[in-house]
This record gives sequence, structure tokens and C-alpha cells, in this order.
Amino acid sequence: MNSSFRRFATQATVNGFNGAVGNTPLIYLKHLSAQTGCHIYGKAEFQNPGGSVKDRAALGLVEDAEAKGWLKPGGTVVEGTAGNTGIGLAHVCRSKGYKCVIYMPNTQSQEKIDLLQMLGADVRPVPAVAYENPKNYNHQAQAYAEQLENAIWTNQFDNTANAKAHYTSTGPEIWEQTQGNIDGFICSTGTGGTLAGVGKFLQEKSKGKTQIWLADPPGSVLSSYITSGGKLIERSGSSITEGIGQGRVTDNLATFINGLTGGFTIPDTKSIAMLYKLLDSEGLYMGASSALNVVAAVELAQKLGKGSTVVTILCDGAYRYQSRLFSKSWLKSKDLANAIPLHLRKYSVL
Ligand code: PMP
Repeated sequence: MNSSFRRFATQATVNGFNGAVGNTPLIYLKHLSAQTGCHIYGKAEFQNPGGSVKDRAALGLVEDAEAKGWLKPGGTVVEGTAGNTGIGLAHVCRSKGYKCVIYMPNTQSQEKIDLLQMLGADVRPVPAVAYENPKNYNHQAQAYAEQLENAIWTNQFDNTANAKAHYTSTGPEIWEQTQGNIDGFICSTGTGGTLAGVGKFLQEKSKGKTQIWLADPPGSVLSSYITSGGKLIERSGSSITEGIGQGRVTDNLATFINGLTGGFTIPDTKSIAMLYKLLDSEGLYMGASSALNVVAAVELAQKLGKGSTVVTILCDGAYRYQSRLFSKSWLKSKDLANAIPLHLRKYSVL
């Protein structure tokens, strides 16, 4: 160890949990960049204090409701969420003194349910049924909030305060971090808040020079919606990626859908291979949506040509899903064990 090295605090002091949301690093993915001859960056959203990109949306949704006078001290925040928005909301609610009720599909990982409960949220797992069904977790959240006093349904899918949070924070950070040298931005969508907010900001700032693309997991209809010029197909197929994939154009996505250049659908086999590669060569232990985003960023960079700069989102870490994504038997049950490159199988257990 070099004993003469002393590092003093250089980071600005921030005000509480909420002040710690955002200002995440932009990580240069060295090996993938060298391999492709492009510059591929991942925005380290897993470094938010609640562990995911959704901390930004959670804070934005709550602050918007406060500003509009919809939420008063001691109130209740209700949301339907696959997990990360709930985790962000649970943190924000604790830090601001609100109660938090989370409806979620019962297909989500146990790690996320446990964490939400430990953060003090009232978690209500419900059967995973389509949006059209009134028993869908979103509709149940809305109905519950409507019959409570001093309560809001944050409505992350169609409340555009979500995309606005990314327009005012994630987008400007990426622009500043790349000093405006950004040829492409691509990410997957759940609510579409990240893609629409970041995309709109970058496209405006670059005066249309930065191309914005969408990445879908199998079973999501948005990339075909864009490439077909606006045809919404029936959902079919499924993916092991949690928190992404969509069957409709949400109000958040609608704020920017016309600005998208194109989309890719990334099969789970490629996302799993990238998940292990990110760990092995970049040292990054990521969730599956981040891996899918990186596969898509590589494809976009190759499309834009040698020397291009492409940014994507590293949404959250693997810690929330490790009992699945790093389990040989779980991957086998999904017919994905063979997707792990042979030399990287040492990383999976059980
Ligand atoms: N990745 C993960 C792990 C998520 O939980 C989510 C949100 N559900 C996303 C990506 C997509 O973000 P957005 O809702 O902004 O489209």
C-alpha cells in the first residue's frame, strides 16, 4: 500500500436521502469499447441511494404531488410497481414521513419483496394479469388510493412527472458528462420515463444530432411499434428481464415516441451472455435490464459506425436478482443455462 496517499472528501455534501439521488458517474465500458472500436458508456444508476434508476422517478413523482398540494404531511403514497419504483418510493417516503403502500405482480423476486418490507412499505403482491384486467396491480393501487384521505396514486406509467425527472436530471448529466459528444442513446422501457425524459433532453440539446433508440426484451411491443410506423401488435413471448417490457405506449413514452429513430429486440440469450461478460471483463455485477441495455448499446454503436459514442443506462445491480440470474438451476429452468459462455460458467452457483 502507498502510505503517502491521502484522499480528502471531494464530493459535495448533500441534504439527506433525497439530496443523494442523481449525479451518478458515467462508466466507460473499456472492453466493449475496445472490441467494437466505439465508445460505449453506461450511466451508473445502480449508484443511486435506493439502488436503481427509479429513485429519480420516485422523488420526482412525490415532489410533483407535494408542489401541486395533493400530498400533505402524514399522507400515504400508493403505487403499482414491479419493485424498483416501490423501493425508491419507500425510501423517499421514509425520509419525508409518508406512509407507502405497494401493489406488485407476484412474479417478482423475493429479494425485492423482502427489501420493500424492511423499508417499511405495506407490500401487497397480486396475481400478474394484463393491464386490461381490472385486477392488474396498477388498477388495484389506483382504487385503493382513491378511497383513502390524504393519499396519492403516483401513477408512474402515465404521470409525466416521471419523464420530467429524467428530463431535468439524467439527461443534463449525460450531456455534461459527454460534453455533448454523443451520437446515440438507447435503453429499454418499463414506464418509458427514462427513455422519454433523457431522449427528449438530448435530442433538443444536440439539435437532433443524437439519435435516440429503444431496446425491447422479447414479449414487448414497442420496438415493432416504432419500426412498423405505429402499429401496436398483441403481446406474445416473455423474458426473464424484470422491470422492462411494455404492451402499450404509456403517457410518459408518448411525450417522446415521435423522436425515436428505431428499436431493437434483444433475446434473453444475449442479455444473459452480456450479464456474465459485464462481470468478467468490466467488473460490473448488474441486473438483467442493464445487460440488455448494454447489448443494445453495442448493436447501436455498430450501426452508427466506428468511433461513435453511445450511452445507455445501468439500471440496477444484480443483488436484487442473484438467486435467479446467478443460479445454474434457475437459468436451466428457463432454458437459459447454455446462454452463459462456457468460460464464464464459473460465476454461476447452485
Ligand atoms: N430496469 C429496471 C430494473 C427497472 O425496474 C425499470 C423500471 N421498472 C426499468 C429498467 C425501466 O425504467 P423506466 O420505467 O424509466 O422505463
